[in-house]
Amino acid sequence: MRGAVLYGPRDVRFEERETPKVIKPTDAIIRISATCVCGSDLWPYRGIQPVAQPTPMGHEYCGIVEEVGSAVKSVKPGQFVIGSFFASDNTCPICQIGYQSSCQHAEFVGTAQAPVLRVPLADGTLVPTPEVPSQDLVPNLLTLSDVMGTGWFAADAANVRPGSTIAVVGDGAVGLLGILSAKQMGAERIIAMSSHKSRQKLALEFGATDIVTERADEGVARIKQLTNGIGADAVLECVGTQESMMQAIHSTRPGGSVGYVGVPHGVELNGEELFYTHVHLHGGPAPVRRFLPELIDLVWNGKINPGKVFDLTLPLDQVAEGYCAMDERRAIKTLLRP
Ligand SMILES: [Zn+2]
Repeated sequence: MRGAVLYGPRDVRFEERETPKVIKPTDAIIRISATCVCGSDLWPYRGIQPVAQPTPMGHEYCGIVEEVGSAVKSVKPGQFVIGSFFASDNTCPICQIGYQSSCQHAEFVGTAQAPVLRVPLADGTLVPTPEVPSQDLVPNLLTLSDVMGTGWFAADAANVRPGSTIAVVGDGAVGLLGILSAKQMGAERIIAMSSHKSRQKLALEFGATDIVTERADEGVARIKQLTNGIGADAVLECVGTQESMMQAIHSTRPGGSVGYVGVPHGVELNGEELFYTHVHLHGGPAPVRRFLPELIDLVWNGKINPGKVFDLTLPLDQVAEGYCAMDERRAIKTLLRP
């Protein structure tokens, strides 16, 4: 088969790789229906995160089970399944309390930009849909594998409640789906921070009530202005830079919460400054598996349409253009079809 391999900065190739097979009895092999490019794939693509050797790419996936190992019980060939970018047993104490992305046996699933994928710990990782979905549902379901699950976690970690006033830092796909999540959780006022027209439009469609175009200290000042001078109850940090993290912390009212899901690059916090903010910080790699049953249900019943974040669809062999379009911000998120 052929799949995506990152060689170095801005060098993604679509090339011959070994077709995955069942290695352990707990594995499943799935035929990918759709995969996509993640904002976090852009860190190594841009050379901000070094690439030591040619690296297969992709960690967002859904598709049809082709084969399962002898120990797999809950997943069968022919089922349409979605899994997280971290495989988890879903039985250890950490999984039991809902942090499957820190499972004691977690394994990263990182070769999904390909037609066939091996998923370890299939019983704990994969969640089947009620039936094989129609084609138009596939983009919505694909988002649950990471980007929607991560936006949802940002809102969950920031303790969004009915009636909350929230702000979202970052207008990438995760930030936009953080808005959708907060709306679904009953937030009353949702302030999106974005200076891009097309992204503002989607933000409003997903439930944003206000748009702030300013960044850094000016952005914080605008949030304060909009919240009677105190800041938002909950702020979703969906970027991962020093500026975005400080913007999030400073936009939160005392006693409020920041849910941070942008993979941090060079973020350093000053303990004393943090001490006097009275802000809760919670985040990390989203435990997507915890949310999958609920989110599948919401998509299946037409309550949410997170697949709207895909504004570019390409055949998988044009994966390099998919990265390039996102890097140049010509696309919010690229969907790839094998
Ligand atoms: Zn576990």
